Amino acid sequence: MNIYIENLGKTKNKKIIKKVTEKFGIKKPINIHIVPEAPVEINQEEELYKLASYQTPQNCNHTSCLGKNLYISKNQEISFCPKHIKESKLGTIENITNKEKFENALKEMIEKRNKCKQKCEIYEICQGGCVFEKNCEEYKKNQQKVIKELNQIMENKVDLGTLPKYKEKAVINLIFKRKE
Ligand code: SF4
Repeated sequence: MNIYIENLGKTKNKKIIKKVTEKFGIKKPINIHIVPEAPVEINQEEELYKLASYQTPQNCNHTSCLGKNLYISKNQEISFCPKHIKESKLGTIENITNKEKFENALKEMIEKRNKCKQKCEIYEICQGGCVFEKNCEEYKKNQQKVIKELNQIMENKVDLGTLPKYKEKAVINLIFKRKE
């Protein structure tokens, strides 16, 4: 579970996180992220190679994360997505008034996932993606190109030392994944 919290100072943050974990029965391991942190530069190309080789990406658009994240704002409001705070707001720590919002998102996600499963060649990688992400065509096209390239690298036994580090890592990950 990832908890993103708007910074209120070390002691207050600690108190609030304790309250939330107790109240919601959140079990360890918990990763705490203090917000705002310096924005992380995301390299979209490298992200595709990470996804294609089953590494954890930094951008969550094409992963399945519902129920793994909580965002706590300064006024102690809870959202279930740190990127879509408004759309995923559930209420305050003391008073969750919008529980059905999460339940509806879960239902929507399950439906989306089932549709993707039937028609998408890269379902295994994306698993239906983000419930808030409605258009995936471009991502899908780019991701397929990367999968093709990685397969060719492996088939042609390309010297990994000649590849950029992120491609080399992707190939190694895929080799291990296929041996599992
Ligand atoms: S259809 Fe789009 S959202 Fe669904 S699994 Fe494929 S790439 Fe992901």
